[in-house]
Amino acid sequence: MPVQPKTDLVELGNGLFAYIQEDGSWGWSNSGLIVSEGQSLMVDTLFTGYLTRDLLDAYRRVAPEAAEIDVLVNTHSNGDHTFGNYVVETARIVASTRCAQEMAERPAEVFSRNIADWRNQGAHWEFLHEVMGARFDFSDIVYSPPNELFDGQKTLMLGGRKLELREFGPAHTRGDIVIHIPDAKTVFVGDLLFSGSHPMIWDGSIANWIRACDEILTWDVDVVVPGHGPVGDKTQLAGMRAYFVDLMEAAQERYSGGQPWQDAAAEIGLSKYDSWLDRERVVGNVAAAYRELSGGAIQPAREAVVTEMIKFHRGGECAHGDECGCHDRKV
Ligand SMILES: [Zn+2]
Repeated sequence: MPVQPKTDLVELGNGLFAYIQEDGSWGWSNSGLIVSEGQSLMVDTLFTGYLTRDLLDAYRRVAPEAAEIDVLVNTHSNGDHTFGNYVVETARIVASTRCAQEMAERPAEVFSRNIADWRNQGAHWEFLHEVMGARFDFSDIVYSPPNELFDGQKTLMLGGRKLELREFGPAHTRGDIVIHIPDAKTVFVGDLLFSGSHPMIWDGSIANWIRACDEILTWDVDVVVPGHGPVGDKTQLAGMRAYFVDLMEAAQERYSGGQPWQDAAAEIGLSKYDSWLDRERVVGNVAAAYRELSGGAIQPAREAVVTEMIKFHRGGECAHGDECGCHDRKV
């Protein structure tokens, strides 16, 4: 049975809203709404059609401009930010070219196969089933790609309001973008910020992710809306940067010592971040760190990475000894 999430519609002022689902763990993503002079722009849809319809209803209750969404911006390709696109039928759908390419490689319908069968489709699907499969019903989703693409940066006018779109990928994915609203000192950063959970790098780059944080931290913004977890400010973004610096330091030490990435992934504790959700993502992030540190010579296969993540998620052996709290938390 799909889960009906606890949601929070946060009024940010200046015609800006954020919609937060649950604790931000696997599949529970955020969305945003910006309105100006009768026009509306939505930042990301949700993982399924029914979640996105609930989201639209919530927006329409607080903002009449949302009766028809004029522009939808996808911050990146992942399904929890794009699979609901088809519900916002009439909008221009803006994204980076790289985001659209990634979406085409894994269109929404792939998910709508029977969830019970996911376990038999290889480690990647087995893992997705384990961390979130039963929470969602993907049977009604329809692939709806962006129809207005850009590279680098783009200025959008919404009513009389100027919005700046800026591409920072590859970081979390290949084509991440952020939406900056200078007059509200606010930025929607998509999954360049996971607030309260470990970040996840798929086909991205840690060095770029750090550079993105560095640059956004120089902007005149007071509010940072993450892709997952509660609305925050630059403090959480600085925390994300620190996480990657710590991760790279720990990975570098083990990479230089000739340790295989699987052993390093099992060993690297990042205990400073134990209060964050989804700790198994450290495994994927260490794999990404090795790929980067080796200049691409080490290319951990997606299936191998998720196999290690499954092991970790199920509380398999770790190398930290009795003191370690790795597996104490239910993920
Ligand atoms: Zn996400």
